[in-house]
Amino acid sequence: MRIVRETGLSMTVELGELTVTMLSDGETALPVDRLCGPDGGAWADLAGADLVDGKLRLPVRAFLVRGEEGCLLIDTGAGSAWHASLGRLGEAMAEAGVGANEVTAVALTHTHVDHLSGLVDREGGLAFPNAMQVFVATEELMAFRAEPRMIPVQSRLVPLEQGDGPLRGVSAINAPGHSPGHMAFLVEGRMLIWGDIVHHAAVQFAWPKVTWSFDEDQAQARATRAVLMDQAVAAGWIVAGAHLPGAGIGRVERAGPAYAFRPLAR
Ligand SMILES: [Zn+2]
Repeated sequence: MRIVRETGLSMTVELGELTVTMLSDGETALPVDRLCGPDGGAWADLAGADLVDGKLRLPVRAFLVRGEEGCLLIDTGAGSAWHASLGRLGEAMAEAGVGANEVTAVALTHTHVDHLSGLVDREGGLAFPNAMQVFVATEELMAFRAEPRMIPVQSRLVPLEQGDGPLRGVSAINAPGHSPGHMAFLVEGRMLIWGDIVHHAAVQFAWPKVTWSFDEDQAQARATRAVLMDQAVAAGWIVAGAHLPGAGIGRVERAGPAYAFRPLAR
């Protein structure tokens, strides 16, 4: 893997036949009680946490996979639907030298507000007019259809299942727990774009049993994280996450009974 371009809001790496670009949608911060201990109460050990004014730092990212066949955007950021410091995806794409019209397909890791909202622009129109297919896990199609802002996107929906390839070289892997149809995407068999498997790296690699209050099924989220962290270590996968620090791309290492995240140097 080689870094081929780097800007304030983006980083592009080469991976076999494909390139992967991290696109920052901005950064926000959430209350510390979003982290939950295995007993279900708020997690109290914040010694290693990454805090901003006493809150947990939360970067928001999307990833663009580009190959000869097309340009697949995985997640779309928060658009204008959540915190005011987010919604910078367009700016990040401009920095990375990618036009909105170049995106040929979109795939969502899941249908939460900070992942789907960038599908529409501030005026409510399609943000990626040439993305003829929008892949959403079968389990989350209903949630997607229930979102009034997503009406312009409905006719482009394609149900996504484990093993599907929204672009050649990319395959979907079930990663449920944070949401029922949460998906990860393995790129070129080497990089796992894993969505919301980790929300606060500074705590959850060292304490992988710590969950996020928005994990819809806490026990399943914990189990999926354990499986994917183990697989990433065993297979030597690079991981890329919607809320990981640094450039959002790095490696998972074992550290005693837990793990450590080694971000790609910027
Ligand atoms: Zn998220």
